[in-house]
Amino acid sequence: LSERTKYFTDSVIRRMTRICNGCGAINLSQGFPDNPPPFEMTQSLSEIALSGPHQYSITFGAQDTREALSAKIEHFSGLRYNPDTELCITCGGTEAMMSAVMATLNPGDKIAIFSPFYENYGADAILCGAEPIYVPLHTPDFSFDEKELEKAFSQGAKALILCNPSNPSGKVFTRDELLTIAKLVEKYNAFVITDEVYEHIIFEPYTHTYFASLDGMRERTIMCNSLSKTYSITGWRLGYVAAPPEVMDRIRKVHDFLTVGAAAPLQKAIIKGLTLPDSYYQDVRALFTHRKNLFCGGLKKLNLDFYEPQGTYFVLVDISSFGYDDDYQFCLDLANKIKVGAVPGSSFFKEKENRYIRLHFAKSDEVLNSALKNLEDIH
Ligand code: GLN
Repeated sequence: LSERTKYFTDSVIRRMTRICNGCGAINLSQGFPDNPPPFEMTQSLSEIALSGPHQYSITFGAQDTREALSAKIEHFSGLRYNPDTELCITCGGTEAMMSAVMATLNPGDKIAIFSPFYENYGADAILCGAEPIYVPLHTPDFSFDEKELEKAFSQGAKALILCNPSNPSGKVFTRDELLTIAKLVEKYNAFVITDEVYEHIIFEPYTHTYFASLDGMRERTIMCNSLSKTYSITGWRLGYVAAPPEVMDRIRKVHDFLTVGAAAPLQKAIIKGLTLPDSYYQDVRALFTHRKNLFCGGLKKLNLDFYEPQGTYFVLVDISSFGYDDDYQFCLDLANKIKVGAVPGSSFFKEKENRYIRLHFAKSDEVLNSALKNLEDIH
């Protein structure tokens, strides 16, 4: 069997879902929402079931889907991506990231990754034969040290993965931080592969800055995204990459030979989501702000220490006072005894780190209140 599949585990995020299902715990580990997708989309999907399309779309995405996507991106970021040459509809953000890494790195190349990081990035790098250089985000506010980031570039990192708003910490990078990154990227002639899955899940007073919108950065940015969270359709497996034509050309090749294409009926139905008015996105933000306040307010009442999320629907909770050496064991006990599923923080950190668990709050009030009730027995 191949060496490249030897050096990472299966996803602990997704393993925790199976563990929760097995023991009847409330699953606050793998983050997926329980609010229904917009009605316009599901109604459209039911019509498409009868009318089609049921055959392949164009490999890099159906024309009408790419056009609707291009307009949606431009509306929010001010950036125009040509649907004919600069967009690719992928099978989720997961495939978007993998295609981006594959299209930019050769085996042996280095890639900078902020730590804590979303679990997939380590495997993305290893599967491409690339070597990750982890750049620490320092507590309490998960800020980075410019010198440490510069060191990654001076050691040869060809690209940086930037997850903003950031999973698992909930950090939103400030404009100044992004400008510092931009300066280094320019100096070292590198790419930034962004993961902006939570662009619409951001809490006042924080706002999202699209990295590609910074001066000179559109040419250097490979913007990856998922449609899962914004439209509550994690099971549809739809995402996209936006990048300059010469990069997109390579990404489309990777995408084609990996997948042939994303599901055609779902690409058609998502158009109804991509063309929703601004009020939809305001509602998404209001819903998740409410959920954050409910859940984090509950954690506070339980005297749990956590980093207040600025965006995303994740919260890192400090478990150091519980006296566990092993955060994975903590999560197993939490699922089995307290009936709440969490992801061990060690899944997200490069260095041995057993101080955190990640919980998510993308659930209804009822589910969150039940989880908080169960968590009363944690101490
Ligand atoms: N991004 C979500 C999480 O971190 C779901 C990930 C996934 O399983 N694709 O939990």
